[in-house]
Amino acid sequence: MNQETENVIIIGSGPAGYTAAIYAARADLNPLLIAGLEPGGQLMITTDVENYPGFPDGILGPELMDHFTKQALRFGTRLETGMVESVDFSRHPYKVTTASKTFFAKTVIVSTGASAKWIGLPGEQHFGGYGVSACATCDGFFYRGKPVAVVGGGDTAMEEASYLTRHCSKVYLIHRRDEFRASKIMQERVLSNPKVEVLYNQVVKDIQGVEDPVRKMTGLTLESTKDGSTSELEVDGLFVAIGHKPNSDLFKGILDMDDVGYLMTKPGSTKTNIPGVFACGDVADSVYRQAVSAAGTGCMAAIDAERYLAEEDH
Ligand code: NAP
Repeated sequence: MNQETENVIIIGSGPAGYTAAIYAARADLNPLLIAGLEPGGQLMITTDVENYPGFPDGILGPELMDHFTKQALRFGTRLETGMVESVDFSRHPYKVTTASKTFFAKTVIVSTGASAKWIGLPGEQHFGGYGVSACATCDGFFYRGKPVAVVGGGDTAMEEASYLTRHCSKVYLIHRRDEFRASKIMQERVLSNPKVEVLYNQVVKDIQGVEDPVRKMTGLTLESTKDGSTSELEVDGLFVAIGHKPNSDLFKGILDMDDVGYLMTKPGSTKTNIPGVFACGDVADSVYRQAVSAAGTGCMAAIDAERYLAEEDH
């Protein structure tokens, strides 16, 4: 074969992918990282990150990802832009194909992340980081003493609403039906909280805000799913909690995944069902979904890949 076979190809450039790259590069594996469509991942759409250890004054999400990138490059990680369009793990070396190139690798680390689902309103993007969020643990603190709204009726929405009651003066829980799909225990926890007011049979139709002196969301227009009537709700924050989608479509029928699409790994490791293919970060984590836990599993994946290469003598 003419083309060089890489030791390790990392697919995805969030905290998991870059941490895997830092560890793999420092282990002299000369990793190639393919950044994907949204380089930097979900942190690129957040503002202040205050829960990533090591930054006592907080850090902006994009700035943190810039640090990750520089640290990975410093040790010799090679970056490839673009999106992986297909993989072939049926024979060794494994084949990874982007729109313009084909690569071969002895090991592959999958760190393609997950994406929050959005309602699809133009204001969601415009006020993203300025009132609109998909992560209460990340951004709830900024709404201390203020009224906010949560959209959704599953466990995530219950969890987000419960968490926000710690900081916010009031939490409106907006749901498009009159019953929740969330587990009973999580529903009860939310419904018994005096700070929560549930708005059943409502959807968010529009997001209002101001641009001066700073961009800021100020309220929502709601529409009844029963009769189409509309109403206004004054809130400082909107937390969209209608689920996350793991970015695993590329691996359907190839890597083991659960019903929702989260990649399955062998307990206590990042090993997938294919030897030499490892999964880390949010694409393999439906539970924690934090930048620091993603970085932790990225480290694990690089160590797993290094050991695989050493043990198997590939
Ligand atoms: P989910 O169960 O799919 O619930 C999504 C909710 O958002 C549903 O109530 C849905 O309404 C609503 N929704 C979807 N699209 C919408 C839209 N465009 N506009 C308005 N509402 C919309 O997702 P999830 O809550 O993220 O949970 C995913 C999985 O993770 C579940 O298995 C859950 O049990 C698990 N999870 C567990 C925990 C925990 O145990 N601590 C925490 C979080 C998540 P409808 O009900 O009308 O469809």
